[in-house]
Amino acid sequence: MGARKALKESLTERLRRYSREYAKRTYRKRREAAVQALAEIKGVPCEDCGKSFPPCAMDALLPGRKYRVTAQSPDAIRRDLADAEIVCANCGRERAYRTKWSLYKHEIK
Ligand SMILES: [Zn+2]
Repeated sequence: MGARKALKESLTERLRRYSREYAKRTYRKRREAAVQALAEIKGVPCEDCGKSFPPCAMDALLPGRKYRVTAQSPDAIRRDLADAEIVCANCGRERAYRTKWSLYKHEIK
């Protein structure tokens, strides 16, 4: 391999690595912004029990729809979840139990 060819390959490889790292950084930034927007949306008391929990313990429910957050823009997330019902994980499970088929058969007080 001549010196000229080696240099050309190394530039290609460096460009490839730069592109990969740029994409990773961009994705991480967008992901963090999405998580932040979601935390703000979920930062309200539960609609069912009225208690407050950290965002990780809250669900944003869109009755009849499935919504999975990917690295979207914070504005898209806010728009999609504008009419979401924010409930805590426990109340979310109870809602699921009331509306879906379940293995468990018990009364909810
Ligand atoms: Zn609740």
